[in-house]
Amino acid sequence: MANRKNRLTGPLAPFFIVLLLTGCGRDEHALEFLHQGRTMGTGFHVTVILEEGQTPPQPEVIDRELERINSLMSTYRKDSEINRFNRAPVGASLPVSADFCELLKLSQQVYQLSRGAFNPAVGPLVDLWGFGPADTHDQIPTAKEIARLLGEMDFNALHAGCYQGQIVKTVPLHLDFSAVAKGYAADRVGQLLAERGYRNYLVEVGGELALAGHNASGSAWRIAIEKPALLQGGVQQVISLSDVGVATSGDYRNYFEKDGKRYSHTIDPRTGRPIEHNLASITVVASTAAEADALATALMVLGAEQSLALVEQRNIAAYFLVKQGDKFVAKASGRFAQYLALEGSL
Ligand code: AMP
Ligand code: MG
Repeated sequence: MANRKNRLTGPLAPFFIVLLLTGCGRDEHALEFLHQGRTMGTGFHVTVILEEGQTPPQPEVIDRELERINSLMSTYRKDSEINRFNRAPVGASLPVSADFCELLKLSQQVYQLSRGAFNPAVGPLVDLWGFGPADTHDQIPTAKEIARLLGEMDFNALHAGCYQGQIVKTVPLHLDFSAVAKGYAADRVGQLLAERGYRNYLVEVGGELALAGHNASGSAWRIAIEKPALLQGGVQQVISLSDVGVATSGDYRNYFEKDGKRYSHTIDPRTGRPIEHNLASITVVASTAAEADALATALMVLGAEQSLALVEQRNIAAYFLVKQGDKFVAKASGRFAQYLALEGSL
């Protein structure tokens, strides 16, 4: 069979499982600021509910912050900070931004928690499988190529971390923060709005959300988790929440298909191959969108069984959609139950 490209979205694909709902009960007098655009190869959307006497934020301030983060974290830009780190020889001491250090620290925590299922050092394998900047035309790599790159993924060995804005590259790693950068960008825009006195906002970058305060109806934000079906789509579950970050990972939006087999963009660092299991999507709620983003990717790698055990053990708020035949079965962790909106409360 011909090499059929079925990748639906571009680099750092939007994984738009979470829909934004503006329901009834809306306060007609509430003043809303809306701004949207594109960043990191995906879309973003910002809603701010203004309080009395408040002037709207300047869209350029939001655009500039997103551009700043993209210019640091994009593996598609030659001169990005992450690519400078990736190109640097072992032993080099490099100046790095506070953002880089923060993502590194969070990644190290989620790496530990997931026992390496989440691993930003997966970059070369992401490329090898054709999901990175290097277009490999959906070629299936050989076992030898995979084995060689698996030997260069010891993220733990970068234990030194950042010190006074400097990092020493102790091992030959190629990092890829794509699994956490969209959530981080949403947090940063949220923080920027908060610093300017805005207390009610929803910031979404590629489906990852930073939420604060209330919506136009004066209640918690309501978000719809999409059914993981490409053609039928529709709302699977409505959740109601605020002052948290939300992220979703799944295996059906960004993939390629060859000889009738689907290859996911999420790589299992234990095998060096795209994940293959019955977990269709996972939504995580955490204190920040970056944390939720990293956790969602980690749990996606681990699969339903291991993830369900981990989220209960670590008290993580997670919502799973598991494939069973041609249906999806929903499972929520104990901590997630508080976010499930009552039926009919749209
Ligand atoms: P997300 O959509 O947040 O789940 O992130 C998926 C992206 O993260 C992929 O497109 C890769 O660039 C990268 N990635 C793939 N596998 C992993 C992994 N096991 N750990 C960390 N990042 C990964
Ligand atoms: Mg993620």
